[in-house]
Amino acid sequence: MESTLVTLSNGLVIAGLLILVGALFPLRKLIDQLAPGPIRKKWYFQSGLIFGFILGYLVYAIYFWRSANIIVPFVFFFGAAYVWLTITLSLQTATDVRRFMELEQENITDPLIGIYNRRYMDKRLEEEFKRAKRYQQPLSLLLIDIDFFKKVNDTYGHPFGDLVLRHWGGLILSVVRASDIVARYGGDEILVITPSTPPIAAFALAERIRQHIEMHKFILSNDPKLKFVQFTVSIGVASLSPEHDQVGELLKVADQALYRAKSKGRNCVIAGDEVLEPVIL
Ligand code: GH3
Ligand code: MG
Repeated sequence: MESTLVTLSNGLVIAGLLILVGALFPLRKLIDQLAPGPIRKKWYFQSGLIFGFILGYLVYAIYFWRSANIIVPFVFFFGAAYVWLTITLSLQTATDVRRFMELEQENITDPLIGIYNRRYMDKRLEEEFKRAKRYQQPLSLLLIDIDFFKKVNDTYGHPFGDLVLRHWGGLILSVVRASDIVARYGGDEILVITPSTPPIAAFALAERIRQHIEMHKFILSNDPKLKFVQFTVSIGVASLSPEHDQVGELLKVADQALYRAKSKGRNCVIAGDEVLEPVIL
């Protein structure tokens, strides 16, 4: 009877020890998923504690190897199982949260340009419109369209056109503020929502974007014939005014301004109903 208890006692301590060592693997995976910061540090501290437990189990096993005391080994075993379960569940939770966030991000991102998509734009535009109306804050929109983009596709091919679009989105992002919302409105059209931005500032921003793109050389191929490509954009600017009751009305102003910019000969900015003089910043 006593030898059975001794075997059971030793077996439980060894099993607990192995479970603790096993828990270090999911713990490592969990730490790898976390961004550097206080939470990651706490999990490193947790690893240190587990190493401490492993040491404690080893010392116990050495000192009480032939002991028939079954209570402490039972506590050791279930304690180790609890640690393993907690870490495994934490890893699964972190993986699920990460997957969910990736899906969320995919859901609102245009797969080609990597900026926000139309669905997200519609939602944010509605929110920003309501907020601006309620707090009587300025709100402006910039509708940007590439001039003669069909020609780029026809001359260099559709895949090259895709590369240009991808690069173009990055150029716009590099000019606007982090609080501005940049979304793909359609094929070669991008809408920039600029909260708290009055008409003059919106026009100045549009002009900066226009000049930035006009100056840029798109070197996107090793082909010696394709040293670089340059193109221009036309931009329609609309700013919120008290007579706008629906977000669609504001969008319509931007759309009409863009249409007029195209009619005027392209590579220019048209704001609302009038052509403002470019502001040199
Ligand atoms: P403009 O705007 O100056 O009037 O002339 P445009 O040639 O740019 O004409 P428009 O804006 O009407 O046409 C947009 C073109 O953009 C049509 C299509 O060939 C191209 N396009 C739209 N979406 C994509 C895309 O995802 N990839 C590529 N490569 N081309 C696209
Ligand atoms: Mg175009």
